[in-house]
Amino acid sequence: MDHRGPEFAELGQECLAGMKRIFQTEGDVIIYPGSGTGAWEAALVNTLSPGDHVLMYETGHFAALWSGMAGRLGLKVALIEGDWRHGVDAAAIGARLAADDAHEIKAVCVVHNETSTGVTSNIAAVRKAIDAAGHPALLMVDTISSLASIDYRHDEWGVDVTIGGSQKGLMLPPGLGFNAVGPKAWKAAESSTMPRSYWDWSEMRGPNKQGYFPYTPATNLLYGLREALKMLLDEEGLDNVFARHRRLAEATRRAVRGWGLGILCANEDEYSGSLTAVVMPEGHDADALRTVIMDRFDMSLGTGLSKVAGKVFRIGHLGDFNELMLMGALAGVEMGLSIAGVPHEPRGVSGAMEFLAERRNDL
Ligand SMILES: *Cc1c(COP(=O)(O)O)cnc(C)c1O
Repeated sequence: MDHRGPEFAELGQECLAGMKRIFQTEGDVIIYPGSGTGAWEAALVNTLSPGDHVLMYETGHFAALWSGMAGRLGLKVALIEGDWRHGVDAAAIGARLAADDAHEIKAVCVVHNETSTGVTSNIAAVRKAIDAAGHPALLMVDTISSLASIDYRHDEWGVDVTIGGSQKGLMLPPGLGFNAVGPKAWKAAESSTMPRSYWDWSEMRGPNKQGYFPYTPATNLLYGLREALKMLLDEEGLDNVFARHRRLAEATRRAVRGWGLGILCANEDEYSGSLTAVVMPEGHDADALRTVIMDRFDMSLGTGLSKVAGKVFRIGHLGDFNELMLMGALAGVEMGLSIAGVPHEPRGVSGAMEFLAERRNDL
């Protein structure tokens, strides 16, 4: 398709309008051909200036990667340490901001769903803490593994920039990165002096109005996005999508408890709807188990990243996923635990089945 032709404008406009509903915003959504990492960079370089202070929170591996990027871009990063079992401590953010009388901190950056730990943070609470401190810092949120899987509200929660990617809850191949941009972030972009060209939001604004892009967009992925939006918004409905993820996540946790294994997420209120990180018994290697399951059943489980390498494996239950797919995955894990000689109770699959048979929508 000619990406400067009339047919393309329709596709572009449908994708841009649909993504606003996904982010739950009336504001602008920027779509890049790029990975989630690119969309992280876009959020920072459009709003900040070299030497600006940013406050980040170490929920896990992805939060740590984003903070590393901020440092390499010349920002001064304060990273609040976390234990990789809890979400963002809004009170700790509030305290740091309250102590920043000079308002040196220009942005607070947090990850909504930490993919390395299976912990989801309370973003509304972070916004409240920023407001309670009377601090003007921008709030930027990574929703790469929660968008379209776990309820997320850009406008209602007062987020200034939200970052997304195509390859998780949007059920697409990798290759699209998103920024949802609120009015305060647009304002910040006017005075921000970080060098930017490819990522420049202002280049997008004009052409996007008609459904076009300033450079060649990832046309094929946009066809896919249009279809994904139709599935999520029209065929199933976002509320049902979120409920399905909560149900499959709860079934997964029942399986983990049925095996007598641990859930890495320490706080029930922060359980992730996208994935569950499972803690191995002391003395047993998660990657050895993953290898057995891969060899015997051709099923790939998520590895433990950096600090939790070997200690946890992750079961993804996001995106285009249903009850029977989950049961196949859980059966593979239960058989793998036996084959690998990992001590466990054989009651995970049955526990998950009992729960799913109830088909609860009230979680
Ligand atoms: C996957 C992921 C990323 C990285 O996205 P890429 O597309 O691999 O660059 C960043 N943050 C979170 C929370 C993720 O799950």
